[in-house]
Amino acid sequence: MEKYKCKSVGIVGCGIQGVCIGLQLIKKDIPVTIFDRYDPLSSEFQPASYGNAGHFSPYSVLQFNRTDILYDVPKMLFSSYGPLALKWNYVPKMIPWFLHYLKNCNKKSMLHTAKYMNQILSLSNDAYEEIFKEIDTTNLIEKKGIIYVWTNQNLKSRDLEIKVRNDLGVEQKLLTQKEILKLEPNLNPVFDAGVIYENSMHAKDPHGILKAIFKLYLNKGGKFIQENIKSLKQIEENTTVIKSERENYSFEKTIIASGAFSKKLTDQLEENIPLDTERGYHIHFKDMGHLISRPVIFLDRGFGMTPMNQGLRAVGTVELGGLKNPPSKKRIDYLIKCAKELLPQLKKHEDEWLGFRPTLPDFLPILGPSLKNKNIIYAFGHHHLGWTLGAITGKIISGIVAEEKTNLDLSPYSSKRFN
Ligand SMILES: Cc1cc2nc3c(=O)[nH]c(=O)nc-3n(C[C@H](O)[C@H](O)[C@H](O)COP(=O)(O)OP(=O)(O)OC[C@H]3O[C@@H](n4cnc5c(N)ncnc54)[C@H](O)[C@@H]3O)c2cc1C
Repeated sequence: MEKYKCKSVGIVGCGIQGVCIGLQLIKKDIPVTIFDRYDPLSSEFQPASYGNAGHFSPYSVLQFNRTDILYDVPKMLFSSYGPLALKWNYVPKMIPWFLHYLKNCNKKSMLHTAKYMNQILSLSNDAYEEIFKEIDTTNLIEKKGIIYVWTNQNLKSRDLEIKVRNDLGVEQKLLTQKEILKLEPNLNPVFDAGVIYENSMHAKDPHGILKAIFKLYLNKGGKFIQENIKSLKQIEENTTVIKSERENYSFEKTIIASGAFSKKLTDQLEENIPLDTERGYHIHFKDMGHLISRPVIFLDRGFGMTPMNQGLRAVGTVELGGLKNPPSKKRIDYLIKCAKELLPQLKKHEDEWLGFRPTLPDFLPILGPSLKNKNIIYAFGHHHLGWTLGAITGKIISGIVAEEKTNLDLSPYSSKRFN
């Protein structure tokens, strides 16, 4: 095996990014310790990587920095039953994020984001397939495609999405209402048309997959310490220190993979990174997973349903409200209403969950070294696509640590763009 120079790595966060980075590093024989405030094998562990919609979405190149969406934002915000909501007490804190967002909300930035999301998304499934060869995926993964449906109300936006994906060579098959109902006969026909990504897969249990990857990491010699990390810094050329409430730990390199909570740590490194969160929710309708065969997303409503082992997971919406505000009952009511619109036979729901998408205002993640501390490496900001991008992020970040050459252009993911 090739010997790499790096002697030790600490990772803050055991979400899908942290665990995939840890796995790739340990496979290179680099000693790794992952820290998380929750044990990934326990039921307390419920970060974004636990509660997401489970889509592996390599086709999702177009993001929300688009003028067609920007014009709709005020209307959506003032309707309490729309796909987008605000916690008004958080608005002043989010101003820096909004200013960067406005700067990135134009055709040039939209296409830049699409191009560089496509660069990593197009490699995302192959990176997972490598990991899946080493874990038992029985009853964890389903390969039946993913369907998006829509009404004729926002056809300009739909045309734009179809065109950008075509231009980037993304496979997509447009469907009429009749064709959708043939695939998913239980759906209430409140939509007009849609698209299927036939080669896409979905997770029937994202937490189950994460746990399997985590166990593989431990079996290969990776270490885990359950601690809440308070601070970190680089103290010498080749020494970084991670501080918890109880102890200090030294590593040659440290990786911040703390999802939406990463900003607390990067703020200590004199870098002003405008990371914020798009809050999202899920609920389950127990024993109702059989009503659809694959994920169905209703684009007009900003919500979707995924058949999972826990039941039918109704999931989605975007709420801008930071990390500390309590969950909103209205968002849960909105999810129930949307789910019953598509499947009127649904009855009582359970498991109300709020999660935090880590989102930068240009909708690209940050992957690469800190500007002032080259041994602290960032791996966060994967917004709506962090589940899809876990395995490829593991490969990219472990390559950076091992100082491997890459054919990828990683400059668009640097934090330099905000500093
Ligand atoms: C409703 C919803 C639906 C989604 N659906 C999809 C989807 O279908 N497909 C898709 O690709 N993506 C989806 N996403 C996005 C995806 O879930 C996230 O982008 C991804 O899970 C982020 O992974 P992460 O590892 O960066 O962060 P997280 O999963 O949030 O993990 C971060 C970890 O860091 C730990 N941590 C943070 N700070 C500290 C600290 N100071 N000390 C110790 N530990 C710390 C946390 O405990 C946590 O375990 C969805 C997200 C939401 C909210």
